[in-house]
Amino acid sequence: MDKKIMVTRSSMPKFDEYAKEISSIWQTVWLTNMGEKHNLFQNELEKLLEVQYMSLFSNGHLALELAIQAMNLSGEVITTPYSFASTTHAIVRNGLKPIFCDINEDDYTINVNKIEDLITDKTTAILPVHVYGNICDVEKIDNIAKKHNLKVIYDAAHAFNVKVNGSNVATYGDASMFSFHATKVFHTIEGGAIATSSEELYKKLYKLKNFGIENAEVVDEIGSNAKMNEFQAAMGLCNLRHLETEIKKRKEKVLLYREYLQNISGLHISEEIQGVESNYSYFPVVFDKDILGVDRNQIFDSLQKENIMCRKYFYPLISDYDCYKSEFNSLDTPIAKKIASSVLTLPLYADIECTVIEKICNIINSEIKRV
Ligand SMILES: *Cc1c(COP(=O)(O)O)cnc(C)c1O
Repeated sequence: MDKKIMVTRSSMPKFDEYAKEISSIWQTVWLTNMGEKHNLFQNELEKLLEVQYMSLFSNGHLALELAIQAMNLSGEVITTPYSFASTTHAIVRNGLKPIFCDINEDDYTINVNKIEDLITDKTTAILPVHVYGNICDVEKIDNIAKKHNLKVIYDAAHAFNVKVNGSNVATYGDASMFSFHATKVFHTIEGGAIATSSEELYKKLYKLKNFGIENAEVVDEIGSNAKMNEFQAAMGLCNLRHLETEIKKRKEKVLLYREYLQNISGLHISEEIQGVESNYSYFPVVFDKDILGVDRNQIFDSLQKENIMCRKYFYPLISDYDCYKSEFNSLDTPIAKKIASSVLTLPLYADIECTVIEKICNIINSEIKRV
């Protein structure tokens, strides 16, 4: 490839569309602190995701951190190490202890059959991740949480507008965090949100993202600053208009990948899941070295030589990070450990050329056949 192919590329509205959307800000001169764009965007999201409340944030990570703070949790939170740094950091930065549960081998979400063994009298919440937009076993998690009186906060950063059996994923758990980072399917440059049906949680988050200020003379919470500004909200309003087209284009690209890479033993690709309407946010491929004779790193290097950038996502496992490895043993979650060492997410964005996908698959196929 002459030009470098990145693993992702941000979707952009037409410049004129964004310019038109932000032009009223020059009249209102209201740049942040829950302005007109912010409120409009919030309403549209609440309708789209079929939730009572969407609390908007400057980014997804602070949304998650503050949702945990708002729930007044203590002790231990069960989560998985197969995620982005944000998930575990949000727990630890709240002074809580992450307890790592292993994942499923087929969809990489939390293994619900292993959760109850990890519950102790210190456990106060479960923080599962809808990895790559694959949806956790929400019913089972709900049952476990009810039985043990635990809160459930989903890291739904990858799962914007995914539907399960007709219900939007935002409706599950006590809260769901979405990320609107530039690299996500839907973005506001940087940004994030908490979806919840609890008015109490919504009100608390409103305060926590604005320093804990109740009114001009009362500050009664130790809050942070995590408000979404008007320019972010304007980008969100523009991108929302193109969401459907965006996902449709991604779907076509994913179907093409599947066609080129199907029926190769030792190569695990993500398949359509019954009852799930996906957002096609990532295309992860797991390479089984024992069958293929070639490992993930070799494929990564061969593609990189051809100017194609993939991502070892998620690698390393969070429990193997330098800042955590002295406290945790990543071998306690053997499936997560195995997937992290053998997964690659392939380049995927709405406007990736079909010829590029063909080339990527040809390189993978020839690497596999060479051995
Ligand atoms: C992107 C992401 C986050 C963090 O979101 P930001 O908006 O970048 O702060 C958290 N968890 C997962 C799984 C993510 O992919």
